[in-house]
Amino acid sequence: LLELRGIRRSFGDHHVLRGVDLDVDAHEVVALIGASGSGKSTLLRTVNLLEPIDDGIIRLAGDDISDPRVDADGVRARIGAVFQHYNLFPHLRVLENVTLAARLVHRMPRAEADRRGRELLASIGLDGFAGAYPDRLSGGQQQRVAIVRAILTDPQLLLLDEVTSALDPELVGEVLALVRALADGGTTILMATHEMAFAREVADRVVFLDGGVVVEEGPAAQVLADPQEPRTREFLSRLL
Ligand code: ATP
Ligand code: MG
Repeated sequence: LLELRGIRRSFGDHHVLRGVDLDVDAHEVVALIGASGSGKSTLLRTVNLLEPIDDGIIRLAGDDISDPRVDADGVRARIGAVFQHYNLFPHLRVLENVTLAARLVHRMPRAEADRRGRELLASIGLDGFAGAYPDRLSGGQQQRVAIVRAILTDPQLLLLDEVTSALDPELVGEVLALVRALADGGTTILMATHEMAFAREVADRVVFLDGGVVVEEGPAAQVLADPQEPRTREFLSRLL
């Protein structure tokens, strides 16, 4: 579904991505792991065209979305994305937050957007907060709202960048449970995470990024439990 070929991105003379090749199949969950600063967020941002690339090609369902002439808003409408922080608009009520993009970008009628929004909020036990402002919600509740907002319009691909790392430990579980439910439901997910236990539990495949390239990838259990590359081994051993 998603194909990255030879993705390069530098900031000045800092070569962050030096030729990344990565595929995500439909219905697959891929976890991107790597040290802080290894370029995970940069790579995810290239996919929804928030970060320009210096070289390489990005295809989504066969369409070359790295073509400079591509309609970036049209591409972003096919991709849901949730980041670590500040995902909700503080001045909009929860239901408005959840339905805004569906109404503005996808031109979904308000009644339908509201109906789907309420259904999704109910599915995560937050229908009672539809009319509340985000600051009434815990961090974990806010992230779950951000995730259901991202899937309201059935995107082809969901990008998740450290969606739990700003949360207090007791709130992590509820967000992971939602991601797991989406994964079980067949949502295609590319996620950057520091949580190896989560990667092992949810991801079909783990991709280890180091030195600007994919150093190792494979089934989550295999890469995390029995890495083949010395650099992967070293990275994982530092986490223990
Ligand atoms: P973390 O695990 O801490 O989230 P990461 O793997 O997501 O790290 P990135 O945020 O992608 O890493 O950053 C990779 C490198 O690129 C870092 O050294 C960062 O300083 C640099 N970088 C990212 N964006 C920019 C920018 N806009 N300008 C200059 N340097 C940048
Ligand atoms: Mg990051």
